[in-house]
Amino acid sequence: MKAPVKSSASSSRANSIASASPAARANGGSADLFAQLAEHRHEQVSFYADPAAGYRGIIAIHNTQLGPALGGTRFWNYESDAAALIDALRLARGMTYKAAVAGLNLGGGKSVIIGDNKRKNREPIFRAHGRHVESLGGRYITAEDVGTSTADMEFIRAETSHVTGLMGKSGDPSPVTAFGVYRGIQACAKHHYGSDSLAGKTVAMQGAGNVGYYLAELLAKEGAKLIVTDIDPARVQRVVQEFQATAVAPDAIYGQQADIFAPCALGATINDETIPQLQVEIVAGAANNVLAEERHGDELEAKGVLYAPDYVINGGGLINVNAELHGWTLERAHNKAGEIYDTILRVFEIAREQRIPSYRAADRLAEQRIATVSRVRQNFV
Ligand code: NAD
Repeated sequence: MKAPVKSSASSSRANSIASASPAARANGGSADLFAQLAEHRHEQVSFYADPAAGYRGIIAIHNTQLGPALGGTRFWNYESDAAALIDALRLARGMTYKAAVAGLNLGGGKSVIIGDNKRKNREPIFRAHGRHVESLGGRYITAEDVGTSTADMEFIRAETSHVTGLMGKSGDPSPVTAFGVYRGIQACAKHHYGSDSLAGKTVAMQGAGNVGYYLAELLAKEGAKLIVTDIDPARVQRVVQEFQATAVAPDAIYGQQADIFAPCALGATINDETIPQLQVEIVAGAANNVLAEERHGDELEAKGVLYAPDYVINGGGLINVNAELHGWTLERAHNKAGEIYDTILRVFEIAREQRIPSYRAADRLAEQRIATVSRVRQNFV
């Protein structure tokens, strides 16, 4: 298995099938479906159409060795059906790795609905999707993602119990995600400076949204100095006023003299343009798909910048969903997210032992856990 560097953050990266898949390329650009599944060992893909409901959906299940495949439903106007399939496959694979390193008993899956996500009459579409999810008998559990809301999950719930992120249940995952990111940043400090204290450290934060705000609160409480940016001035203002952060323009965030850069906005912010600007020793934040390409993880390494792999440090959101599934208390979800501290340290240890960049070490850790659990389960007892 090989984890995708780019997964869920941006649908614009739903590449054409020819550019995204060697299996498809080898087939002259057309979709050889089983070759695509075999390429990254996906287990199953389900297509379902209900023209009366205006529904066309794909559910991709990557791996269920640890448990049922969990991953959100993305509603997006894909440029082609092939692009939708590629996105579903890649996102599902990303979920396998995220769940595995978080120590959850979940596999990886994802679904996409093709269409305009601003559409008003949503009940038929999401009930059709619910029936699609139900048809898989619990092998796949869905949740919110780009273009979908808790209200949409309620429509799905009318047709299946295999859905999380419902109204009045686990709620906004951002505080748990932020706590996990905070513990992950502490682990980076421990690895790099020998102490996990963040007092006096300067953190340049990109994005003061849901996760960014809670992260700023935790960092400020510990005595870190904050530099913050956001394209929404009101969000910046809130963090400046409440946590005495210094505001900078969005483009200026990369070149700040700071100890830590915490990307909490967009994906692909570590790229050819931004790496030369970085003046930090650590990159660790909530954003998905931080590395524009895998090679940017190597480039950070070459520059001596410690990188906390995104899907490890931001696993708190998935932990929150898992908590809802199993009826955990918020305290238990918090404790589980706190374990991200040890996981990040383990990733750095593997990277050192095997002389590989941290993003590859994270993949190895995930693969190790899947292999170990699968071996334990192989006997009939
Ligand atoms: P959000 O939309 O609440 O916040 C993102 C913020 O980034 C917004 O305030 C937005 O204005 C800002 N932003 C957008 N473009 C920007 C730019 N060019 N420069 C500066 N700021 C910009 O989202 P969120 O829930 O806080 O999530 C933040 C990131 O963390 C996302 O990448 C998300 O995929 C990832 N993530 C979130 C969770 C979660 O629990 N919410 C879990 C895992 C990963």
